[in-house]
Amino acid sequence: MPRDIPTLLHDIFGFTTFRGVQEQVVGRVMAGQPTLAIMPTGAGKSLCYQLPAVALDGCCVVVSPLIALMHDQLRAATAVGIRAASLTSVDADWRETQDRLRNGELDLLYVAPERASGEGFRNLLRSAKVALFAIDEAHCVSEWGHDFRPDYRLLRPLLDEFPDVPRLALTATADAHTRKDILVQLGIPEDGLIISGFDRPNIRYAVHPRDGLTRQLADLLAANPGPGVVYAPTRAATEKLAETLGRGGRAVRAYHAGMDPAQRAANQAAFIASEDMVMVATVAFGMGIDKPDVRFVAHAGLPKSIEGYYQESGRAGRDGEPAVAHLFWGAEDFARARQRIMELEPARQQGERARIAALGALVETATCRRAILLRHFGEDPSPTCGNCDNCLTPPASVDATETARKYLSA
Ligand code: ADP
Ligand code: MG
Ligand code: ZN
Repeated sequence: MPRDIPTLLHDIFGFTTFRGVQEQVVGRVMAGQPTLAIMPTGAGKSLCYQLPAVALDGCCVVVSPLIALMHDQLRAATAVGIRAASLTSVDADWRETQDRLRNGELDLLYVAPERASGEGFRNLLRSAKVALFAIDEAHCVSEWGHDFRPDYRLLRPLLDEFPDVPRLALTATADAHTRKDILVQLGIPEDGLIISGFDRPNIRYAVHPRDGLTRQLADLLAANPGPGVVYAPTRAATEKLAETLGRGGRAVRAYHAGMDPAQRAANQAAFIASEDMVMVATVAFGMGIDKPDVRFVAHAGLPKSIEGYYQESGRAGRDGEPAVAHLFWGAEDFARARQRIMELEPARQQGERARIAALGALVETATCRRAILLRHFGEDPSPTCGNCDNCLTPPASVDATETARKYLSA
């Protein structure tokens, strides 16, 4: 006898209730309706396909952009008794996984878009029973998105070959343009769009011109004893900052994609277990990392986009307790961004310029930061939040504003 959804939610995942739009999304998936779910980081997107994957007869194919992300999810799913596997270049058990798939012994199968869109994988699926296609981090499908991955655009023929299999696309961040693009690219009707609120009221936002970054960060660490993440712009910068900040006596480690994998994994594990560690990292750190009690996130330089900023700062305070997000920026960040744009092919320059202008508006505003963020995601927020630097302490100086304006208009 198949168990019902609330029972599975409790017995497998250990949750008593759904959160936010989860129930609506799971309901649509169970009813076979194509869906694009836009839910903030930490909202619980994984459950929206993992629960149907267990409840439905057949395997849920999950398209995911990063091996590290897949393996984190795989570990978590396996730990609660879900039958899950992945087919990636580092998996040694392909034959076994393929057999399990054909024999109906898998609930979840994780693959990268390159693999999923290939002829070999399509053949494999023809000999299996597929219950659901879940396309995670679906903003990668759009050139308008901040992490464009061309292979996401090749998924459509696979989806269309199995017209009776429901498709669920998920992402944390998609502005109106990107949303539209995801719907079109993945063949999801407009009424399949479900958006949950973007506000993270427990996160206090603050933005500062860089002025002696090391001291600024040291002050931040002193004021925030809980676990924190400092995002630095380059791999070299993460190591250098980690070393400098570590001299203050706090446990500080570095994390970036160029590190020795064993060292990187060790640093990540130490951070997850710690109650006071600071991780100085590139943006490679965070995707799929589930640590609910991160108390602060700092950006040592301008993020790549508002979407990126929202996602990275959103790793703070997933437990709903108070957390802070500090952004440190300098005029040279804008100069560098402009330089980068000029090296791009012309077709991509316009989108990038808009991205940088939106960041300029965020750092230069004298009004509510949260209102700017929420408006960017199409919401209609109240003009003041009472929990950002500008709402708490109306700005006294306009120096930074002038600098930003100069670099934006040049
Ligand atoms: P996302 O992919 O949207 O960023 P995750 O799927 O990684 O979020 O989930 C974030 C956290 O929320 C995880 O710790 C997860 O266990 C937890 N979570 C998900 N759904 C629920 C729920 N219904 N009740 C309580 N916690 C939940
Ligand atoms: Mg996720
Ligand atoms: Zn505010």
